[in-house]
Amino acid sequence: MPANKKLLVLPGDGIGPEVMGEVRRVMDWMAVRRAISFDLTEGLVGGAAIDSTGSPCPDATVAAARRADAVLFGSVGGPKWDKLPFDQRPELGILRLRKDLGLFANLRPAIVLEPLAEAPALRAELVRGLDIMIVRESTGGIYFGEPRGISPNAQGRRVGVDTEVYSEDEIARVARVAFDLARKRRNKVTSVDKANVMQSGRLWRTVVGEVHAADYADVELENMYADNCAMQLASRPRQFDVILGSNLFGDLLSDLAAALTGSLGMLPSATLGGLQPGGKRHALYEPIHGSAPDIAGRGIANPCAQILSFAMLLRHSFGMEEDAKLIETAIERVLASGLRTADIMQPGRARVGTAVMGEAVLRELEKLAA
Ligand code: NAD
Repeated sequence: MPANKKLLVLPGDGIGPEVMGEVRRVMDWMAVRRAISFDLTEGLVGGAAIDSTGSPCPDATVAAARRADAVLFGSVGGPKWDKLPFDQRPELGILRLRKDLGLFANLRPAIVLEPLAEAPALRAELVRGLDIMIVRESTGGIYFGEPRGISPNAQGRRVGVDTEVYSEDEIARVARVAFDLARKRRNKVTSVDKANVMQSGRLWRTVVGEVHAADYADVELENMYADNCAMQLASRPRQFDVILGSNLFGDLLSDLAAALTGSLGMLPSATLGGLQPGGKRHALYEPIHGSAPDIAGRGIANPCAQILSFAMLLRHSFGMEEDAKLIETAIERVLASGLRTADIMQPGRARVGTAVMGEAVLRELEKLAA
């Protein structure tokens, strides 16, 4: 790979810098052992950015994100900034990046790694081998639609209003992301909606069907009501390959899928923008967990979700499937060897901290590359 892939790293707050440190070691390993290096910039976001610039997402960070081919994000927030007014909070850092870069497709894999299939919270027979990708529309729908707000009605009683709005173009572009992904996986998309009771749902189903018929007839398309999908996810999750949903349904179903897999500390995500002239696509990769203030600074955070987010970045932004797979396999082998951070601890396994887990991943990478 040429050395000019531009990468912006935003560690953020709490455990963000701790787990990002382990990714930096993986990057160093790749530079030495696989001759792959990045044009790397580190930037400020969240509380760390508030402390030094007054803004949770300074203009310099947005500009660097625009220049970058991909952004690797840690996590933001913490008690230190909890008392700030809503519109100045660290969490706005990620919202601004998503909005300014037009990141409309949120990809959340739900994968059960074999060594964790027996974790007590899971029913092994249901989830063994689970590998689902949820594609959630992330810039439209009910979280942004107007009108919205709380105001009194004619009787002076308060009424809360949110509006689900989707244009056909918004639906079509995220549907394309789902179909393209399915082609690289098991070639099936389950599109979820409430076409039985929502007008936006009727349009969703129609447009997904049109995109399918026009350009993706080779991919299997299944339409499912979102409530049924929740039940199917809980009872027969392995039937799914790619699940496509609106902002609201994708949000709920991806959390349900995450719960099937065990720990927050294991789950990566990606958020992609549209294809730009010249073929570039803005993209941001982050673990789904937050800054975990309760364990920050103690060296016990699980670095796997952050490292797996880097693997997703290699796969989706740089087409480096082999390297992504190498990292994923290394993590699976570390877990198979019995090492566990506290969040995924099981009886009879060895409890380790962030740095030992990171070192173990490097050791497995070294063996795999030998
Ligand atoms: P959280 O994900 O930070 O933590 C939830 C629980 O999971 C905690 O007990 C934590 O210790 C544990 N946990 C999370 N990641 C872990 C890891 N890698 N290893 C081991 N244990 C881990 O969620 P929260 O407590 O609701 O939020 C804490 C802060 O993070 C808040 O300020 C919140 O706004 C912020 N947050 C940020 C993001 C983001 O940056 N994208 C996402 C969610 C929450």
